[in-house]
Amino acid sequence: MSIPDILQTGIKNVRNIDRFVFGSGSIEELEIILLKQKDKSESSYSIYFIDIFFQEKKNILSRLPINDADRVIFVSTQDEPTTDYIDSIYSNLLENNLSDPYAIIGIGGGISLDVAKAIANLLPNGGICSDYQGWDLVKKPSVYKIAIPTLSGTGAEATRTCVVTNKETGLKLGMNSDYSVYNQVIMDPDLTKTVPRDQYFFTGMDAYIHSFEALNGIYRNPIGDSLSQISIQYCREIFNSGDMQSDENRSKLMVASYMGGAAIATSYVGLVHPFSAGLSVALGLHHCVANCMTMRAMEEFYKNEYDEFWLMTKTQSIDVPKINHSLLSANQYDALYEAAIVHEKPLTNALGTEFKTVLTKDKVIELFKMM
Ligand code: ZN
Repeated sequence: MSIPDILQTGIKNVRNIDRFVFGSGSIEELEIILLKQKDKSESSYSIYFIDIFFQEKKNILSRLPINDADRVIFVSTQDEPTTDYIDSIYSNLLENNLSDPYAIIGIGGGISLDVAKAIANLLPNGGICSDYQGWDLVKKPSVYKIAIPTLSGTGAEATRTCVVTNKETGLKLGMNSDYSVYNQVIMDPDLTKTVPRDQYFFTGMDAYIHSFEALNGIYRNPIGDSLSQISIQYCREIFNSGDMQSDENRSKLMVASYMGGAAIATSYVGLVHPFSAGLSVALGLHHCVANCMTMRAMEEFYKNEYDEFWLMTKTQSIDVPKINHSLLSANQYDALYEAAIVHEKPLTNALGTEFKTVLTKDKVIELFKMM
């Protein structure tokens, strides 16, 4: 099938992250990496965006080379980032004359890594967050940025997007740009030791899900396909094993996350992510758990993966939450529909340009009712 115009964007000429370090204890490399970057810059400070989970974890914080001049911002992970949240951090930095750091460091799960990306893009470009939601709208290179993932699965450390929800427009959409790609990633599997089981599973499944969405799509890239296949293979090995959180499996999931992120940077997701975005926008559910809930309705679209996914939840004794439909109003179903159907690119990637003939409003709501 020929590639529809809507899918011909900047992802064709692929940019991956510039450098990575991998392995137990590799967080110790951060100091040297930062010093090198500081030498190249006029600026004397960096800005850290750290998952609020670590605010009380002195054993992690004390290992970071934070200087007096640096600014540390703890990122709230209660809710997924909104454009208002990003804009408020940005204007606060401007008010405090912190608009020109030599580096931005994101430490945490997908939320913290995405907030760091969004701010790194905004600082040199100005304006407001929603100006850049979409494909290739960021004009000037971002601030040099480093990702240190402490959760594996979203691939935020390797993707070319940072997902933000605009509450006014109901749009959950990233700044999809080459400038959103991190310059440096430090992958230290020691940092994922304390992740709760459920969260580990839900987040890990993001790698599995966006990899199979890419592989089942129209827009393909042979390098991306290979990365997706490895990511899926690793997820199978991890989530069909007796101890999904063993040292080896945590290390492997970090690789799967990175590979999956690099794969999706060359491609598009499919049906799961738009429906999952609907659950996030309309019902406030977090991305990774929303993906897993969406899987309840995916049998007719992704039969093999549907079977495999539910088997993995069984093997790991994971309960995927269900929507309490008795509490939902007709308006909320409308909102779910709107927030899902707006994602034209991934839906086109999954079903072609005529995707609305399959995904009628009634059909979409029927699918949501299965979740
Ligand atoms: Zn995802």
